[in-house]
Amino acid sequence: MSNWLNVSDHHDFSIHNLPFGVYSNNGVGTPCVAIGDSIIDLKAAAEAGVFDGLGVDASVFDAPILNPFIETGKAMWSAVRSRLQESLRDESSALSASKSSILRDRLTAEMLLPLHVGDYTDFYSSIEHATNVGKMFRDPENALLPNWRHIPVGYHGRASSIVVSGTDIKRPQGQTLPPDAKVPMFGPTKRLDFELEMAFVVGKTTKLGSSISTAEAEDHIFGMTVFNDWSARDIQKWEYVPLGPFLAKNFASTVSPWIVTMEALEPFRCASIKQDPEVLPYLQYEGDHNFDINLQVDLTPENGSASTICKSNFKYMYWNMAQQLAHHTVNGCNVNVGDMMASGTISGHEEDSFGSMLELCWGGKKDIALNNGDTRKFILDGDTITMKAHCENEHFRVGFGEAVGKILPS
Ligand code: CA
Repeated sequence: MSNWLNVSDHHDFSIHNLPFGVYSNNGVGTPCVAIGDSIIDLKAAAEAGVFDGLGVDASVFDAPILNPFIETGKAMWSAVRSRLQESLRDESSALSASKSSILRDRLTAEMLLPLHVGDYTDFYSSIEHATNVGKMFRDPENALLPNWRHIPVGYHGRASSIVVSGTDIKRPQGQTLPPDAKVPMFGPTKRLDFELEMAFVVGKTTKLGSSISTAEAEDHIFGMTVFNDWSARDIQKWEYVPLGPFLAKNFASTVSPWIVTMEALEPFRCASIKQDPEVLPYLQYEGDHNFDINLQVDLTPENGSASTICKSNFKYMYWNMAQQLAHHTVNGCNVNVGDMMASGTISGHEEDSFGSMLELCWGGKKDIALNNGDTRKFILDGDTITMKAHCENEHFRVGFGEAVGKILPS
């Protein structure tokens, strides 16, 4: 344990994690770091001298978003995190001396969306998910389209509707084509779904016309967060041809309030599955670029208890983040600090590891059982979806917290 707050090494927010977020300090958004059931107010910490000697401009902690801090660069992210680890291990540190003015109760803190997200891109990088959807929406025999194993398929999503965990989501309305109907109807979606995803946050701005190689890519990533890409399947089915998702996806995406740094994820790095056929040179990479991150989705009915309906893992991804970023910028597209790039739904091999209700109920053909005897195919009004993620080895745990959203009627 070895920290004066006595936070267990197997806590989601152990000393080995120290994820960044923004909390409301009496209505003022303030950058912070989670440790156990506490948060460290970074503005107060800077004022107390915790970061003295690092050369960090304290004004980056006097901002309602993390973007200015992220712009200080990878070496400074690491220096600030290391200084906090040292301070938490040293009872005579400036952090310890001023703890009453620096530490807050995390469990009662109001967390805010920690970033200005200028652009959001959603990939489609799980082969199990793409195969499942292809089987249901198109052809069971040739589920993957011919481009899928050659391109990390993605689309540009909507940044304006990204919300922080705890924000209620209104059931969207839209056009659908009912089965056997000739003309569309308008009304609330009947097939409201979640998509279990992780997103990475761009940590370095690039110029228009420049590209990021797979070797450089991880230097451009600040960290990762849990991402629920809410989806209206009936609206999606009618609208997605030929340009892809639009109103079925842009009404809301929920993120966890904490961004776990790539440095904290380093012990959980693992190999990706072998890609076949071999990809084009600009998508080839060296080393391991996947991460072993356990994922879970719970559904809680109104006034009910939580049922875990999916357990998956980020390591199942076919395309890794380095390839996604290399592909995204290979044409000269610029990216900015705070941009979010989501993985796409993360499904595993087993039926209980499918990362959406569309797959769990197999297009409406099966019931999803809940603890209380109820069943679901898609999400009902009053249901709450909770996504959780964590890495763990025999020594310690690194958790992401939760991305929670409750569905309200249209
Ligand atoms: Ca998605």
